[in-house]
Amino acid sequence: MIAGRAKAAIAADYVRRANPWVEIKALEADLEDLTPGVFADLDAVAVAVDSLRSRFVATRQLLAPRVAHVDLAVLAEPWLARASVSAAVADAPCQVDAWSTAQLARAGEDVGIPCAAADTGEVFPSTLAMGHAAAAVGAQQLLALTGVIRERPRVGQEIRLDLLRGTYEAFRLPLAAACAADHVLAAGRVERLDPSYLRASLGALMTACGAEADTSVVLATRAVVALAACEACHESTAPYLLPDALEPCAACGGRLAAVRRVRRLRWAEAAPAVAPRAATTWLRPGDAFALVPPAGAGRATLCAFPTAEPRWQPGAPWDEAAARERFARLPRSFDLARIRACRIGVLGAGHLGAALIEQIAPLPWKGILIVDRDVIEPCNLPSHPLATRAGETA
Ligand SMILES: [Zn+2]
Ligand SMILES: [Zn+2]
Repeated sequence: MIAGRAKAAIAADYVRRANPWVEIKALEADLEDLTPGVFADLDAVAVAVDSLRSRFVATRQLLAPRVAHVDLAVLAEPWLARASVSAAVADAPCQVDAWSTAQLARAGEDVGIPCAAADTGEVFPSTLAMGHAAAAVGAQQLLALTGVIRERPRVGQEIRLDLLRGTYEAFRLPLAAACAADHVLAAGRVERLDPSYLRASLGALMTACGAEADTSVVLATRAVVALAACEACHESTAPYLLPDALEPCAACGGRLAAVRRVRRLRWAEAAPAVAPRAATTWLRPGDAFALVPPAGAGRATLCAFPTAEPRWQPGAPWDEAAARERFARLPRSFDLARIRACRIGVLGAGHLGAALIEQIAPLPWKGILIVDRDVIEPCNLPSHPLATRAGETA
């Protein structure tokens, strides 16, 4: 039975069949439960997710370790495929820059009012042929980002392939200085933290990293609750805890509801509530946060913990003679040595991610990371290229 199997596992099986040499890491996980450290050893990433929230979280996850990425999307009914390319640096646009307030609210980002529903629950039509169209556009940019081909990647641009109008266009995305994805994560120097700091208090950690009262702390992925209200007595409080770690109301023991969530805060505001608590109140292995001094008082620092993620599953030793035969017809513009040196990631192994994996898996990359939280559903089968293949051999 293919239905019910994890998409990440199906994709990993396919990669192994297509390519004996590559190192593989397949994570059946929600992007929000991962940390930037998971992506730190990648050379470039393709983002092929179908919700605004996942796209927003992926962008922050990749800004912190500064991994360039190409974001793919498809509108199957109007025969439209698009890709946008981000260098994951402080001063270049990303796919989140141009989002409207409504889009940010739908992504679960705090836009000043409580967000009732993070997701509209809308069902996307299947990608069908356009999955492969977007995958080809994305694969070319991934090859450019990794330096496998000599074309310059279209960083800061959106590429649109419109099969109804018969056009292929690239245009520059507007640079939004106040992008909700917080490009400060990709600015300034990187301070690698010893994992033992996770056992210290949050206050001790912030002091060791040089945070002062006026310093802004920017958490890479998870938001903390800056304002909560008791559902019973309506007493409000500023707990600065993760939403799933809220404690009962101090006044009446009622349940607290998160009213305002933030990923960027002034340390002086949060410190009274959380300085004595463990650093793990906010942070996990592989996590990262930026410390931003007040304007004009120096540059930002990104503080990063090493990851505790599982190791890469190794591949077979590289066989030069066998490879020469297999890759004899590789386009001459492809740099095989560069492919062997690069690790890439594919976030999302649904229709779109699977189409991309189908296209790039035969290349002997050093490593391929695949992340997807879902399992195959019967309605995925008509257009998920790898699920139906897995059925052939099962
Ligand atoms: Zn941005
Ligand atoms: Zn209460």
